[in-house]
Amino acid sequence: MTPTDTIAPQKAKQIHATALGAPRIGPNRELKKAVEAYWAGNLDADGLAAVAAGLRRDTRAGMMRAGFDSVPTNTFSYYDQMLDTAVLLGALPPRVLEIEDPLDRYFAAARGAEGIRPLEMTKWFDTNYHYLVPEISDDMDFDLHPEHVLADLAESVAEGVPARPVVIGPVTFLALSKAVAGSAAPLERLDDLIPLYLHLMSLLRAGGAEWVQLDEPVLVTDLDAPTLEKTTEVYGALSASTDRPAICVATYFGDAGPALEALGATEIDAVAVDLVAGGLEALSATTAFHDRLVLAGVVDGRNVWRTDLDAALGTLGALTGATGRIAVSTSCSTLHVPYSLAPETELDGVRQWLAFADEKYHEVRVLSAALREGRESVADEFDRCARALATRRADPRVKDMALRGRVDALRAAGATRSPADRRAVRQQERLGLPVLPTTTIGSFPQTPDIRRARAAHRNGTMDEATYVEAMRAEIRRVVELQEKLGLDVLVHGEPERNDMVQYFAELLDGFVTTANGWVQSYGSRCVRPPILFGDVRRPAPMTVEWAGYAQGLTAKPVKGMLTGPVTILAWSFVRDDLPIADVSDQVALAIRQETVDLQSTGIAIIQVDEPALRELLPLREKDRAAYLDWSVRSFRLATSGVSDATQIHTHLCYSEFGPVIDSIARLDADVTSIEAARSHMEVLGDLDAVGFGNQIGPGVYDIHSPRVPSTEEIATLLREALAAMPADRLWVNPDCGLKTRRDDEVEEALTAMVAAADEVRGAVTSD
Ligand code: GLN
Ligand code: ZN
Repeated sequence: MTPTDTIAPQKAKQIHATALGAPRIGPNRELKKAVEAYWAGNLDADGLAAVAAGLRRDTRAGMMRAGFDSVPTNTFSYYDQMLDTAVLLGALPPRVLEIEDPLDRYFAAARGAEGIRPLEMTKWFDTNYHYLVPEISDDMDFDLHPEHVLADLAESVAEGVPARPVVIGPVTFLALSKAVAGSAAPLERLDDLIPLYLHLMSLLRAGGAEWVQLDEPVLVTDLDAPTLEKTTEVYGALSASTDRPAICVATYFGDAGPALEALGATEIDAVAVDLVAGGLEALSATTAFHDRLVLAGVVDGRNVWRTDLDAALGTLGALTGATGRIAVSTSCSTLHVPYSLAPETELDGVRQWLAFADEKYHEVRVLSAALREGRESVADEFDRCARALATRRADPRVKDMALRGRVDALRAAGATRSPADRRAVRQQERLGLPVLPTTTIGSFPQTPDIRRARAAHRNGTMDEATYVEAMRAEIRRVVELQEKLGLDVLVHGEPERNDMVQYFAELLDGFVTTANGWVQSYGSRCVRPPILFGDVRRPAPMTVEWAGYAQGLTAKPVKGMLTGPVTILAWSFVRDDLPIADVSDQVALAIRQETVDLQSTGIAIIQVDEPALRELLPLREKDRAAYLDWSVRSFRLATSGVSDATQIHTHLCYSEFGPVIDSIARLDADVTSIEAARSHMEVLGDLDAVGFGNQIGPGVYDIHSPRVPSTEEIATLLREALAAMPADRLWVNPDCGLKTRRDDEVEEALTAMVAAADEVRGAVTSD
């Protein structure tokens, strides 16, 4: 009996036009506002549910209007889709189960509650979205809770929507989970999930779903042979069922490579491939899908550029050999782009080069029409697109030859600083810092007054002079506070910055910022990434006045604060018409010019933050060395324009640094402050192991928590650090900026930190 004989499937219905998912935070951040009101007790559960239902309805309606013949559903989430999947599979951590109310239990897992630690949060692949990390133990009894998925399906079906419920697949779910201490790797539990997915699929079929989409983005990462075999086994078992909808396995964010063969060996009905991120290669290399449906992701779901329709149609044409049936789709969920261009009226002529989620759905529909009825049937759409793209190519802001010449010259000259130990001597002569110098990471609490002043200045109700004085008053306050606390290296507090990337994007040429281009970062947190569309140039100094003002108030050194090239790129939408390494070097040149100007105003220490260094790391090992090369080079170009006596700091946080530790050393900053309070200084050993000999400030307390650390616990951490490294290389600082904390918390915590440094210093110097 061949596998095909055993199955009498529901003949998988053709799909022509669809997307893999959708934004959910609301076009005007309705979900954010409702969820936060619920948390604050200002909206009840019914009120929240009504907002959610409205958003789901609007999302479906938008896709129906776009002419989709299969609509992804179950893409809504109150907080995060991995957490939803944990709820679906009965995989919540035991510590939240005592909470009776399901919604409050859900939010406790997401954000913590009285006495309950939340799940950890980490990056969703190489995007700027963060998911909650499920915790899996050996004795966890999985158990299906399909109510939400079914309710979502029922409301879609009731509207006559051709719903395709989207659920994270078992391999990705377990691969991204973590084992609780002492338990086996979560992937070991794959077999235990099969019956739950089988049960779910039978319920979805009964509920009227013709298709189910199982998301398996982990298949675009490097998986070992046993995991690939197991993937075949799992999808073999799922597709062997006859009581199920047609199955589409969605891969995205990269080329599925050998995983495509692994899937092809099963009886799944369709596969989604990311043709923007290079999925064509693996698809062309296999015949496994030649008689199955392929969801061809030719419309970029995660960047904001208008699709080149002719190029996309060419890709679709190239596919026809590899597969029998093609559906046009976005490359991944449009969760990662804003809802619509409609509210964007400014955008400096850049608007017609862009497509947000709604516009992408339209592109999908046009391509699908071109594929079936010929390009002529939508010729005017193709023409309009070609004209827009021509204006993009011809725009002088996109190619500034003088600027490119300067970047080339800088690259040719290379980053040249003296050896680090020589610089350290020159810097110490200039700075005369005590052993274990104390400092902070840059920002101080952003009080409502500061936010109000910034907003009023932005919308023109506060004039420039009043605004500058408001910011200066805040800088005076922060400098005085730091002097009172006895810190050794001061900061100006960053009151003028809404965000460490947007601030620079607004001052550099080559960026536009949107009015309403919000994207979910995690939970209710949204960001509005700037759009980097052209060659990046610094028309004028950006931070020099603020830093110079602060330095004029004190005899102690004030650190200048800049954001590094990689982080600026990671938190922006980056142009797709120039290699990212070249874009990065343009940003590096702008930052370098700023460091030189800071130095000229008498700033002796400059910090260039790179918290996103780990974030852009490619998903596949084979691509990593090239990334690390250009990112390290860019940082060094940005920071090598100053004299030996000017001290360069960098700061890193938010991640496991293991895979980039070597590159952190190669940045060659004079001082690296790095998040370590939560990982208990392990990072020091790691840096030591790669031979890093420069100075380090391992964060000595966690600024993400309102808890104020005691002098004793900080002193203990410092002694631990001193066991791993000599005293003359150790700095004392919190593990990140203080902008989200309250004034009183900051004052108490820094008091403890300075006292701990004093205490440990006494012991060091008397040795
Ligand atoms: N200098 C920034 C601040 O203190 C750094 C922020 C960050 O690391 N994310 O806010
Ligand atoms: Zn930080």
